[in-house]
Amino acid sequence: MKKVLNIILLFLCFVVFVGFCNPQEHKWKNIGKIRITTYCAHCNDPHGYESSSGKTLKYGYAACRWLPNGTLVNIEGDIFEIVDTCGTEAIDIFIDTETCQCNINEYKQVAICEP
Ligand SMILES: [Zn+2]
Repeated sequence: MKKVLNIILLFLCFVVFVGFCNPQEHKWKNIGKIRITTYCAHCNDPHGYESSSGKTLKYGYAACRWLPNGTLVNIEGDIFEIVDTCGTEAIDIFIDTETCQCNINEYKQVAICEP
């Protein structure tokens, strides 16, 4: 009988442990196909790694004028954080390249997680 109780206790500990270790799941909201473009330090306006939010631009950050800063965007599995404003209606992904190779311009499925 004691053994059964021990097993139940172990099982409960396991459930609690796994429960606490699970990172909070993002609640993604599908917003359909959105135009995706890219920008870099060369074609940023003004040039460089400055963003309108004050964060230093790096890969993983993106710009958008209709989503608030801090919004996470899931673009077909890749996650970016909005930290900057964009001159067009697209979601503009920052890429860090030696020379400007910002020629991506395509519609992709996007889901968002608001801050
Ligand atoms: Zn560029």
